[in-house]
Parts: sequence; C-alpha cells; structure tokens
Amino acid sequence: MENKKIPYRHFLEEKDLPKQWYNLRADMKELPDPMLNPGTGEAMKEEDLYPIFCKELAHQEMDDKTRYVDIPEEIQEVYKQFRPSPLVRAYALEKALGTPAKIYYKFEGNNTSGSHKLNSAIPQAYYAKKEGLTSLTTETGAGQWGTALSEACEYFGLPLTVYMVKCSYEQKPFRRTIMKTFDANIIPSPSNTTEAGRKILAADPNCTGSLGTAISEAVEKAVTTEGCKYVLGSVLNQVLLHQSVIGLEAYKSMEILGEYPDIVIGCAGGGSNLGGLIAPFMGDKLTGKKPNTKFIAVEPASCPSLTRGKYAYDFCDTGKITPLAKMYTLGSGFIPSADHAGGLRYHGMSPILSKLYHDGYIDAVAVKQTKVFEAAKLFAQYETILPAPESSHAIRVAIDEALKCKETGEAKTILFGLSGTGFFDMVAYESYLNGTMKDYVPSDEELQKSFDTLPKVPGIQD
Ligand SMILES: *Cc1c(COP(=O)(O)O)cnc(C)c1O
Repeated sequence: MENKKIPYRHFLEEKDLPKQWYNLRADMKELPDPMLNPGTGEAMKEEDLYPIFCKELAHQEMDDKTRYVDIPEEIQEVYKQFRPSPLVRAYALEKALGTPAKIYYKFEGNNTSGSHKLNSAIPQAYYAKKEGLTSLTTETGAGQWGTALSEACEYFGLPLTVYMVKCSYEQKPFRRTIMKTFDANIIPSPSNTTEAGRKILAADPNCTGSLGTAISEAVEKAVTTEGCKYVLGSVLNQVLLHQSVIGLEAYKSMEILGEYPDIVIGCAGGGSNLGGLIAPFMGDKLTGKKPNTKFIAVEPASCPSLTRGKYAYDFCDTGKITPLAKMYTLGSGFIPSADHAGGLRYHGMSPILSKLYHDGYIDAVAVKQTKVFEAAKLFAQYETILPAPESSHAIRVAIDEALKCKETGEAKTILFGLSGTGFFDMVAYESYLNGTMKDYVPSDEELQKSFDTLPKVPGIQD
C-alpha cells in the first residue's frame, strides 16, 4: 500500500487521556425538554432525583451549563487500564471496497466487558461508593452492561445484584460466568426475590422475562434495601457525559493525524456510544467551527425509534416507574420481534440525541439485520475484529457511505464507532451464517398500537 503516512492504529499516550468530560448540552442552542414527574406533570429538579441517583450523578444529570467536568483522578486511574483506545484506519476494508474514502473507527472492545459500557460503569460505581452507598442493583439483557458494572463494582468494592432477563440468563451462560468472576449476584428475572417478580410469575410461571421485568425487579430491590441504588447504562445525560471520553480521544487522535471527519456514524440503542463519539465534533458544528459535518445514527429496522418513532414524553422503562423524558420513542411497552438478534432493543432514545435529531443536526437510518450481519462478516474478514451485532449497524452504513464515494469519486473521511466485540453473539452469527436469520419490520398498525399507550400529561401532551 502506497503513501502510508497514517498508521493502521493510532494510540494516544497515557498522558493524553482526557482529564475532563465534555458536556455537549453547554453548547446546544436549545436544550432537551426537562424530565417530568409522571404524577404531577411538573419538571423534575435535581433534589427530586436524589431518591434514584446518588447526588453527584443527579447533579450531572441536570447540569446543562458546565461545559467541561473534571474526571476524578481515581477514575482516570481505572480508565488507564484500558484507555486510550485505538483509532484504527481501515486500510484493508477500504481496499476491499475499492473506495477512495478514508475510513476510521474508534474501537471500544478492548476490555473484558467487550464494549464501551465500562466508560460509564466506572464513574457510576465510583460516585456511589464515594457517597457511602453499600450496594447497587441493575438489570441486564444481553449482558454487556451487567458485565461492565460487575467489573466496576468489584474494583470499588461495592456488592452488586444483577437482574438478568431469564431467557438471556439461560441462552448466554458464559455472560453469567464473567459476571460471577467479578462476584456479582446474578438473578434470572422474573424471580421470586421481589414483589414485582412474584406477581409476574403468579400470572405466568413460564415467563422468560424482558428488560421491563428486570428493571422493575432491580428498582424494587434498590428502593427496599438500605444504602442501595439502581443504576442505568445508557440513555441518561450523565451516561452520555461519561462516554464523551470516546469522542475526545478520537478528536485528539485525528488532530494529531491532521484529519477531520466529513461523516461521523454510530449505532444507536439508547444512544450512549453515539452520543459520546460525536460530542466534540457536534460541539464544533453547534458553535459554527465546522458547520458541515454530517452525523448518522444507525438503528435496527425492527426497533426504529428515531426513524419511525414519535417525539413525545414517555416512560424510560416498561414498568412505568421512571420519570417522563421527551424523546423519540416507540412506546414504553414496545418489545422488538423475537426474530431480532442484533441488539439495540430499547424503545426510546437519549433525550440529547432526540433533540439534536429533531432540530436537524443528526440524520438517522434504519437497517435490516441480514444486511448488518453481511457487513459484520466482511468487516471481520478484513479488519481482524469480530464486531458486536450492535456495532455492525454502524459498519453497515460506513460501508454504504464508502460505496457512495466510490460512485462519485469523492475521498470523504468517514469515522465510525466500533462499540464492541461480538464473541457472546455466536447464536446470532450462526443464524446468519446458516441462512435462518429473518428480517422483521413492524407494521404501521403495530407501532400505532404502541403509540396509543403513550402517557397523557395535562397541558403538555394529550
Ligand atoms: C449496549 C451496546 C450498544 C447500545 O447502547 P448505546 O447506549 O446506544 O450505545 C451498542 N454497542 C454495544 C457493543 C453495546 O454493548
């Protein structure tokens, strides 16, 4: 390959690790609408969040003004064990596609959790420990968040109970084993350890669970246990803040390499890896420094919250116990088809990303899973990484954009987020490879049924 001035993998030095997170809200012209109390319809204040989050995290959740937030040194020390992560130039993929485009990806799979989720699990466990909490609970579906939080809680010496969706608990036994390695207490949900779980089991003893049942159990356990709080791995403003470390590193690497992306692409479930990756580049767009950068959120056609959802106030969970957030949503009761194996199953989208999309700063594309796995296979063959199905949504669209460049002859610079590895998704890979994987696209009627259940808020949403 000629003219290889830019290395395959660019690593920042340890001293270049960001010392502050970047709070994109400080540069947004219009802020996301405030969270509402579902009972009164009133905007939540920081203090209203204290029963749910520890104080520092409640503050970060509501803080729209502080542009840069110091990363405590204890957190920087843990970050150093797996960061800075590499920015990779996909020379081999470019060549295979025959594209003049330059493709870069930021790889977040270099830690045991196999994804970017550890970036937020660490601060969430750290602040909980610092405030004197004695345990945490969470839910996990596919297991990445549960694994990341298990690692972080073990590091800071906080006992953790993970309610794991029962069918995942049974189908992904090795995920359990990793979490057990980090001493987490893992309970298949629904279980008989909570009132919510007992109720669900009484109605249906064979219930295989959903994220909704697991969240209800985890929250109940938190509110009924002294010194225990519930934590969440995506969607929230605080999580996007922590994940800005991805974008800040990518930005610095590109600066050193003399590059700047024309297009930034990421997969979007709850929006945390995408929100983190785009943060500083979006900051440049919002402040007029780089007005023309294009941003693309990629979601599954089977769970299309941005492309087919409603911008409305909705619950963040299926059990309807959280505050209401204004976001693109399919309705909190929406459950993607069982045929869908590619992750990104959340019904809503981060309020920050929802607002940016609503205001025209971000584009969104929905892709079918067989096309996603086709891209995953191609990527694995040329780039020596087996990508997570979630991340492969971004790969799909990065490839499509690079192929457009091939047609037009433009040498655009494309940056995408490779949020994790796919070693625990062999069942999904197998179904793609043996030809049994199906695509599912919900009908308009199906979505409308779900929209009909959106909450009413007097004077705000009827
Ligand atoms: C959880 C997860 C996602 C989706 O979550 P976001 O909050 O949208 O980033 C994407 N990729 C991987 C590898 C994940 O584990």
